[in-house]
Amino acid sequence: MKELTSDELKKKFDSPIFHQISQTADELNLECYVVGGYVRDIFLDRPSTDIDVVVVGSGIKIAEALTRKLGRGANLSVFKNFGTAQVKYKNLEVEFVGARKESYQRDSRKPIVEDGTLEDDQNRRDFTINAMAVCLNQERFGELIDPFNGMKDLEEKTIRTPLDPDITFSDDPLRMMRCIRFATQLNFYIEDDTFDSLARNHERIEIISKERIADELNKIILSPVPSKGFVDLDRSGLLALIFPELLALQGVETVNGRGHKDNFYHTLQVLDNICQAIDNLWLRWAALLHDIAKPATKRWDPKAGWTFHNHNFIGEKMIPKIFRKMKLPMNEKMKYVQKLVRLHMRPIVIADDEVTDSAVRRLLFEAGDDIDDLMTLCEADITSKNLERKQRFLNNFALVRRKLKSIEEKDRVRNFQPPISGEEIMEMFNLPPSKEVGSLKTAIKDAILDGVIPNEYDAAFNFLMDKAKSKGLTIQSEFMK
Ligand code: ATP
Repeated sequence: MKELTSDELKKKFDSPIFHQISQTADELNLECYVVGGYVRDIFLDRPSTDIDVVVVGSGIKIAEALTRKLGRGANLSVFKNFGTAQVKYKNLEVEFVGARKESYQRDSRKPIVEDGTLEDDQNRRDFTINAMAVCLNQERFGELIDPFNGMKDLEEKTIRTPLDPDITFSDDPLRMMRCIRFATQLNFYIEDDTFDSLARNHERIEIISKERIADELNKIILSPVPSKGFVDLDRSGLLALIFPELLALQGVETVNGRGHKDNFYHTLQVLDNICQAIDNLWLRWAALLHDIAKPATKRWDPKAGWTFHNHNFIGEKMIPKIFRKMKLPMNEKMKYVQKLVRLHMRPIVIADDEVTDSAVRRLLFEAGDDIDDLMTLCEADITSKNLERKQRFLNNFALVRRKLKSIEEKDRVRNFQPPISGEEIMEMFNLPPSKEVGSLKTAIKDAILDGVIPNEYDAAFNFLMDKAKSKGLTIQSEFMK
């Protein structure tokens, strides 16, 4: 948080675009203010190019006059139905809206809107830190209007609603997700009354579209320490409604004095770990979902203790259903998450055992270009409190990584296609498409991955000849060497 004197704040608006808006507003005799996220982010020292301007009167009028003033390079879009207009200029997007007063009905987050004052407009904002405005009219240029002490909440790193939180959240329940999202992104504390209200109103989330919820969830996942958001989602009761599969990981069962780890907190730890290493949203999702099938596969075995057999494969299968329900993209991003979940135990198994070339080659073949991401996920998955054990795994992973590198350099199996295709095999032995062709092709692939033959055409050809002979197949004369 950056403390600014009123002169320093004024300076922050000392750029041509704000002076142009200021002049335009004065010429039209309209009050106008920068409001919301842009003002907040000045104090948080997070430069932004999205500027929201509230006009007491017609936002569209100012936007039109400003666009004429800016001339070439300024681009105007008017949204008459919403009474808003956007001016794109250089790398800036300035959104103009008339000050408004809102009232809500119980079954919709779409308000009834009337023209209002600046105060009405600030009252309808979600949080005190998002309700600050800075005047742009010449006479009061750079003056901060902060009716709810947003500055104090910024200093104290607090998220609080400007009005009674029960009204703010019930009116537009998306604000509950935004509340936890801002607290997570900014590492802020949710003020007690505001938090209690989240818990009281959590069921209202049902009227919000899945897309908007997913949007906020992704922002939580992209935060520096996402576990904070998931813990708040859980404590408020929201998680049970928006992502029950994740909540099902919570809890420890004990039989004969033997418990398993709490997979909810383990998962959150894995997610936080991976966030220190990478920014990739979908790799973060893979971390969140890597153990999602543990509740479904959990068994007690008197000899082995708690087992979660095949939780990686079952987890892979659960993902499309979860993505569909949450309106996440059902495309190659989902397939990538599925692949990482399916393979997430492989490097551990290899590292736990003797690290053989053939196991490493097979892993490389299956993971392809995602091998580095897979290794990053596996390293994040080591949450053992036993430092010696943790170090042993990390050392073994380092060995797996070295082997991956040397085998890839030597054998190029990362995106490998067997050197002889199924079609060639059909032509060579005059075979129709059949199981036999598939099994010959697989035999070549396995021989290469197991290191029996090198990844080269001649070696594969000779190997194929031996295999075919043992099956009584004869090669067509034109293919003979
Ligand atoms: P970010 O860009 O990280 O989402 P932001 O605060 O700029 O942060 P926007 O969604 O662009 O977020 O919203 C701009 C401003 O509009 C907010 O600062 C807030 O004042 C107001 N606002 C946005 N959504 C809501 C809402 N659902 N309820 C009340 N006010 C809102």
